Amino acid sequence: MIKPHNIYIHVPFCMSKCNYCAFFSRACANPDWDKYSNGIINEIEHWGNLLGRINVPTVFFGGGTPSLMPVKTFEKIMAKIKSVFELTPDCEITAEANPKTIDAEKLSGFINAGVNRLSVGVQSLDDSKLQFLGRRHNVNDALNLIDMAQKLNLRLSADFIYGLPNDTTDDVIKLCRQINSLGLTHCSMYELTIEPNTPFAKMNLNMPNNNEMADMYNAIDENLSLPRYEVSNYATAGNECRHNLNIWDGAPYIGIGHGAAGRILIDDNWYEQRGADAQFEKLSDHARAIERVITGLRTVRGVLLDRDVQKIINMQYVYEHPELLHQTSDNRIAVTKRGMLILDDIVLNIVG
Ligand code: SF4
Repeated sequence: MIKPHNIYIHVPFCMSKCNYCAFFSRACANPDWDKYSNGIINEIEHWGNLLGRINVPTVFFGGGTPSLMPVKTFEKIMAKIKSVFELTPDCEITAEANPKTIDAEKLSGFINAGVNRLSVGVQSLDDSKLQFLGRRHNVNDALNLIDMAQKLNLRLSADFIYGLPNDTTDDVIKLCRQINSLGLTHCSMYELTIEPNTPFAKMNLNMPNNNEMADMYNAIDENLSLPRYEVSNYATAGNECRHNLNIWDGAPYIGIGHGAAGRILIDDNWYEQRGADAQFEKLSDHARAIERVITGLRTVRGVLLDRDVQKIINMQYVYEHPELLHQTSDNRIAVTKRGMLILDDIVLNIVG
């Protein structure tokens, strides 16, 4: 009996490329949606043939800009997923959306086809910063989309970027207060990082230093009304992104779409997967356990100390660094607030 798998579907198109973006996506406002959806449908069939009619607890349409997709394309893909797999009754179906690519009618179409959670790329509540980031929308466009989704009773998240050149802790505190007034139950706060081969990489920007970034990170914790549940994610209890929580916790997932990665579990064997046939390789239990420690420690609830994780984790390090790590009552290892700031170092020390 094959366990439930979460599904990630990649939509690699955007209206234009943002100045900081290193995601796999290309600027193409009018892609060949039939060609795209036929490819996705072939991949869904492939996994259906391999795994059978498995249960699917979450589906996540990420990008790129999934909200660029016409409703008909979205319906076609959802119909295929439902015909091949068994969506659980409370299946979480998320679509990422950018302001100005979706209106109320389109959003209703997405909802009718199954979407029950929207993740909006707001990024900033300052028009000049949005322009600097290379976003195509302004603050008003973003607020309108938030308002629209709230009126339709969708579970909602919004993404923000902080730590722009010349940003101060006061700027971040102001941003948090503005976010608090939006009535969100989930948001993601990403530190701006300069990725190679992006327009920002060529601009020699005056970025905040590590200490300043750490102060901003702590300011978010202190000023945002939503509690943190992962390094960059904040939500009220019960409104966490179940898709991401499942994956960070080590649940299997299928990556669909060019370049989308997944982890497939068949008969207790893990496979690393990319696309339908670009890659399908067995992963050792050791390698999978390391992945689970890396992703699990990103979450406030931590990584489950099961047999495979016990084999690779340096418990001595855990006991000797109570300021960074602790063992929870439900048998997990979790990092403290201070530990969150140096997670990469901790992972290097804890994995044997
Ligand atoms: S909308 Fe998102 S995926 Fe598209 S270019 Fe901008 S940051 Fe990248």
